[in-house]
Amino acid sequence: HLPVIYAITPTYARPVQKAELTRLLHTLMLVPNLHWIIIEDAEVPSSLVANLLKNSGITYTHLTATTPKEWKLKEKESNWKKPRGVQQRNTALQWIRNNLKADDQGVIYFADDDNSYSLEVFDEMRDTQVVSVWPVGLAGGLMVEMPVLDPKTGHVKGWNSAWRPERPFPLDMAGFAINLSHFLKHTEAKFSFNVENGYQESEILRHLATRDQLEPKADNCTKVYVWHTRTEAPKLQAEKQLNKKGLKSHGGIE
Ligand code: UDP
Ligand code: MN
Repeated sequence: HLPVIYAITPTYARPVQKAELTRLLHTLMLVPNLHWIIIEDAEVPSSLVANLLKNSGITYTHLTATTPKEWKLKEKESNWKKPRGVQQRNTALQWIRNNLKADDQGVIYFADDDNSYSLEVFDEMRDTQVVSVWPVGLAGGLMVEMPVLDPKTGHVKGWNSAWRPERPFPLDMAGFAINLSHFLKHTEAKFSFNVENGYQESEILRHLATRDQLEPKADNCTKVYVWHTRTEAPKLQAEKQLNKKGLKSHGGIE
């Protein structure tokens, strides 16, 4: 039967959160044999996330993990200054190590809450033996950031990456998946705050695969099935006027 896809999603409270999670949930609900591990960057689970999950019928694990204060992005701070989702993804990986066994058939995928996913990306990653890779749209300052294959061997010989191409694995978080048993054997594999901007993917993958071992998916990396979309923060300046008029803001609505 089908290996289980463990999709790991860090998420944090902000005006667009429910919209992002609804969009992602409704994609994941269409994927067979998927277990969603959703980790809130919060002290305690929110009822917003709990209610979304409870009413969905999806298989899930709902965790929390706060980003250490010194690593938390301030509201107006540029996002490249600090890595995002590190604590949350590591918490999910630890849950996997504590709860799953080496002979469980599965695949691990990091699915951020703001990306756009075609169902095909889940079909492609499902039979990952070690680590699989594929193109990601709208990543790294390119229309498509993608692995480049050696035409003779069909193996990954590099990436077309323009941003920090010297990285050992210059790819986006959405562009790879890891075999579960393989991950469980490599107990050092995790993310770290103590690496340079852009090195999170390289940090975990250096424990798991050499470039030559990577399995190219999506029609030899010629198709785009996931996009690194980013959602603009909405301008909510009119919310203030509601108070002045004595109208109730719906900001607290779930
Ligand atoms: N995230 C989080 N806490 C934060 C900022 C981000 O848990 O303080 C989550 C976010 O919801 C997303 C992931 O971490 O699932 C990556 O963040 P983001 O999409 O903002 O990063 P970018 O796309 O800019 O690399
Ligand atoms: Mn993002």
